[in-house]
Amino acid sequence: MSVLVVGSIALDTVKTPAAEHTDLLGGSASYAAVSASFFAPVKLVGVVGDDFPRAHLDFLTHRKIDLSGLQQVEGKTFRWSGEYMVDMNTRETRSVELNVFEHFTPTLNASHNATPIVLLANIAPSLQSHVLDQMNRPQFTVADTMDLWINIARGDLEALLKRVDMLILNDGEARLFTGENNLIKAGHKIRSMGPHYVAIKKGEHGCLLFGENEFFSCPAFPLETIHDPTGAGDTFAGGLAGHLAANVTGAVTFADLRHAVVYGSVLASFNVEAFSLERLRSLQPAEITARYEAFRALSQFEGNK
Ligand code: AMP
Repeated sequence: MSVLVVGSIALDTVKTPAAEHTDLLGGSASYAAVSASFFAPVKLVGVVGDDFPRAHLDFLTHRKIDLSGLQQVEGKTFRWSGEYMVDMNTRETRSVELNVFEHFTPTLNASHNATPIVLLANIAPSLQSHVLDQMNRPQFTVADTMDLWINIARGDLEALLKRVDMLILNDGEARLFTGENNLIKAGHKIRSMGPHYVAIKKGEHGCLLFGENEFFSCPAFPLETIHDPTGAGDTFAGGLAGHLAANVTGAVTFADLRHAVVYGSVLASFNVEAFSLERLRSLQPAEITARYEAFRALSQFEGNK
């Protein structure tokens, strides 16, 4: 099965305590699509300007990502800039330039609207809903979001939640959205707003997966050095959606999602090892398998009571 990924494609400027890089390939959909492409065929829907480097398009094509839904229009590509504090967890957005994104409407073509797995990566919830308006009954839909939309488009986000199977958000966003400090309560509250499944990411502390009477707490793969956390969440979502597409034949179950969450975490752990998508660029399938096995071994409890 294939995955449709819709979201932002950006040129990012990222500053960490160790380094600063400008005009890097970024955006929620870039990370998510490349991550998903390690597991399943991917179709990307988004927009870039006429300044978008050919090399980035070549990289996406090299990953066998279908770019027939990528609009390239006159103007500048969406730009985002962020700075990480010394803990590499706290981030400040320094600037956002919408550019061609301002007038973007995701438009699906005939090859897109029957895609079984849909990942609505982070963009305005009204645009995420517009994608669903054009879809022909996808098998499983996952949406990501961010604090910005919770603050300025809460109504649109609530409407979207009634139409998706799963919402992914981070701990701060879950608290902001629900007003609940306790993440278990927050997860249940978001489920009651529509999505059958909710994943709350906790950065270096892993993630919580909620289903109906089912719960899974996934640790994070322990890393000593993090070079750039940008896009970890998008990479997680892409890996999860790609893994579902590759491994699920019937209705998606909680057990399928448990497995997919672990693979999403594995992909995210690679992504933070370098700036932009550089680590995913060099990543080999055998490395994913090896890290999955290492992750599994260190997460197991002893068998005896
Ligand atoms: P994350 O680290 O998961 O929050 O994702 C970072 C990526 O999100 C960067 O590559 C940005 O280009 C992209 N991004 C930042 N702000 C927005 C926004 N308002 N809409 C869509 N994508 C964004």
